[in-house]
Amino acid sequence: MSEDKAVGLSINTATTRLQWGLIEAAEQYARMGVAGIAPWRDQIAECGLDNAVRAVRDNGLRVTGVCRGGMFPQPTRAAFEANLDDNRRAIDEAHALEADCLVLVCGGLPEGSRDLVGARTMVGEAITVLLPEARAAGVRLAVEPLHPMYAADRNCINTLAQAVALCDTVAPDDPEGWLGIALDVYHVWWDPALADVLDAVDPVRLHAFHICDWRRTTRDLLNDRAMMGDGVADIEGIARKLGALGFNGLPEVEIFSDEWWTAAPREVVATCLDRSLGLRQILSRSGA
Ligand code: ZN
Repeated sequence: MSEDKAVGLSINTATTRLQWGLIEAAEQYARMGVAGIAPWRDQIAECGLDNAVRAVRDNGLRVTGVCRGGMFPQPTRAAFEANLDDNRRAIDEAHALEADCLVLVCGGLPEGSRDLVGARTMVGEAITVLLPEARAAGVRLAVEPLHPMYAADRNCINTLAQAVALCDTVAPDDPEGWLGIALDVYHVWWDPALADVLDAVDPVRLHAFHICDWRRTTRDLLNDRAMMGDGVADIEGIARKLGALGFNGLPEVEIFSDEWWTAAPREVVATCLDRSLGLRQILSRSGA
């Protein structure tokens, strides 16, 4: 394989969410040579699911994930059940969009709770209920571990090892990988166990690879993600691992950034394509 061949790039629509709605993002991404898209549910709701499906289809885009399901721990049983229903709607949307996966941000502590163990138990319970339904709809579920700074309010699943253990507990016999992982460099780059866990993971569990960078000094815990190359994460090292495992998805740029949200959106996309080239070549060489 030639050195200059690179796998395609996907862009998560959060990256340009202040500049473009979903329809315009789909058109512009495709026009600029982006191969995939990962829409957020509020943006799907804004334009309507049918229009979203048409936009990705007409522009020939692969949907690398729908963001997002999850938020499973809830203060009451009724709220837990209502949230499951919302996740069922998310599964329907992922099915309609023929997405590679539905990304699960599993949820943190219910209001007023200090029971992190209980929250994690609720996550397992919810996915146990949803997994057969997702499978029946042909939708893979992807647990995304989030950096521990989000354990209280967003996600009590905080490391890759924890996410893999959750998958193995809920779906021990899952040769087709209906339950798996969305690996986001922003959340896992610091983890001393990352390489060892990746070495041991069943490749069928790898559903998504989210890329951006971790600024050396983060100015905001949510909206200060950096463009690849502007931070300290060894993104290419992680790409090398995924390539060796035969990951055949598209890397997906996901940048929440007050800075990039004020930039011209075409410049954002061009920078994403440029800055991801090296790791896309890595994935292409090792994935073939
Ligand atoms: Zn992500």
